[in-house]
Order: sequence, then C-alpha cells, then structure tokens
Amino acid sequence: MKKVILRARAKINWVLDVGEKRPDGYHEIETIMQSINLWDIVTLEKAEAGVSLSSTVRNIPLDSRNIAWKAAMMVKEKFDIRAGVRINIRKSIPVAAGMAGGSADAAAVLIGLNHLWDLGMTNEEMIDMGKALGADVPFCLQGGSALAKGIGEKLTSLRLGRPIWLVVINPPIRVSTRQIFKLWDELPRESVKRPDAARMISALSKGDIREVGEAMGNVLESVTASLHPQILDIKDRLIGYGALNSLMSGSGPSVYGIFENKHKAKKAAGLMKKSGRVFVVNTSKKGIEFVGES
Ligand code: ATP
Repeated sequence: MKKVILRARAKINWVLDVGEKRPDGYHEIETIMQSINLWDIVTLEKAEAGVSLSSTVRNIPLDSRNIAWKAAMMVKEKFDIRAGVRINIRKSIPVAAGMAGGSADAAAVLIGLNHLWDLGMTNEEMIDMGKALGADVPFCLQGGSALAKGIGEKLTSLRLGRPIWLVVINPPIRVSTRQIFKLWDELPRESVKRPDAARMISALSKGDIREVGEAMGNVLESVTASLHPQILDIKDRLIGYGALNSLMSGSGPSVYGIFENKHKAKKAAGLMKKSGRVFVVNTSKKGIEFVGES
C-alpha cells in the first residue's frame, strides 16, 4: 500500500461547560461533542523521507505549525520510522471556527499512518498521543457522540437515538480561542448559566430533538458574543427561520441551529447566506473514516 485517503469530520458541541484553569494552562471542561457530516479529505502517501504537507487552502500553515504535520512527526519519532510521508489536506471545515478542523486532520494522520506504516497502535495509544497534540484530538479519533471531561480526553461514548439535521453558519469573524478563555477566567462565576449535561445525554439517547434543543448550552457563548454581537443575531435568525434552538460551537465563532428535518434545514440555510459560510449537515456516528487506499 502506497497511499491512504481518509475523511476527517468536524464536530459541534451540544453542551460546553468550562471549569478553572489548571497549572498547565489547559482548562477543565465538560462537554458533549458530536461528529457532523462535514469533513476534510486527508491523503497520506509514502515518501522517501521527511514529512511534507500541501493543502487546497491558503489559510493554514503548511509547516511544523500545522497540527497534522506535528501528528506525523510524533508517530515517526515514536516508532523511529526512516521513511517519510506526503500529506495533502483538502479542506472543507472552516479554519479556527470552533469545529475542531485541525484536530480532525491530526486524528486522521494518526489513524492513517497506523495503517500505512502497519504500526499496530491500539486506540488507547492513539488517544494518548492525540491528547499531547490537542484537547479535541481524542474525541476526533473516536467520533460519534461523546461526553468529554478532563481537558477533553476522558471520553464516554453516547447513544444518539436518531440523526439530527443542522445548519452551521461560519461568520467571517476571527476569534482568538486564547482571548476567549482569558475573558472567561475574568468572568464572575455567579453570572454563568451552566448547561445540564445529564439532561442532554438523556435527550440524545431518546432522539428527542425538542429536548435536545432545550438542553443545549455553551458557557463561552456570551463571552464570544460580548466581542462579536453578530453571533446573537445569527442565533436569532436561525430560530426565526425555524430552528428548534441554536448555539455557538466551541469557542466560536460558528453557530448551528437544529431542525426537524432536512427540508426545513435547507430552507433556513437558503435564507442565511449573507451571514457567512453556510452548511446543511446531519450528525454522524463516525469521526475518521477510510475512503480509499492504493
Ligand atoms: P477547536 O474547535 O479544536 O478549538 P478550531 O476549529 O477552533 O479548533 P482549527 O481549525 O483547528 O480551530 O484551527 C486553529 C488554528 O490552528 C488556526 O489558526 C490554524 O492556523 C492552525 N492550524 C494548524 N494546523 C491546522 C490544520 N490542519 N487545519 C486547520 N488549522 C490548523
């Protein structure tokens, strides 16, 4: 085998609660994440030596700053691999959007290289490596619906009773995750409305989309919206066009709305074009998926 091709799926957060900053700079979180059918295509091709990277977009670094590059280097060093790999990322997931695009690419590199170089890594080993790359990488490796605790690495798979249709809006705003967490650290805790993860777990399991809507919550939403009030405007418009509820994903700026069916989602999406990039997607049980090899 010379080449493997994988889908690396984006995520949204059904609920996101953030705790206090740890000495290592990470925050404790409690979140329920969900893979969605929006993906980058990651191609890994054997090469003589080194790790090289190309992409269809210009707004990601193509050197050692790229998390997919870091993932490949980590595998190469851990297993003392002499051979190299050429990585191509066909990017569809918006960058720096709160949708874990970089983390998904890194997860695809770990799973893809395990196969390409026949390394026999277990899921646990990959999750351990993923954790060192970024807080969302363990979830991206696992995919589907999951409760994540710790910094995001303590994962419990969840049942999703039925697929759910979403409209995801990525407004053309740049949000610095670091700045959002800094503002969060300064926020008086009594003003924070914490989401109810247990209620969400039950709603997802039943496939009760109305209750999912009622249980959605993200403590970072008001923080990011204090800098970018457009986020609240997008939420209102999604609800006005038929979403059962809407929420910012991660630290933003992407916002999604949930809909009863694909038809209603498409109709709303058609009316939201001016707000940013618009995606109509449903939930997926998978995170990373092989689509080809040669
Ligand atoms: P998360 O939801 O995990 O916080 P995100 O969706 O907010 O992630 P990413 O798209 O992963 O953010 O990108 C965050 C930053 O990482 C960007 O500013 C980008 O320059 C850099 N980056 C490094 N590698 C990648 C990659 N493979 N794809 C996208 N961005 C990357």
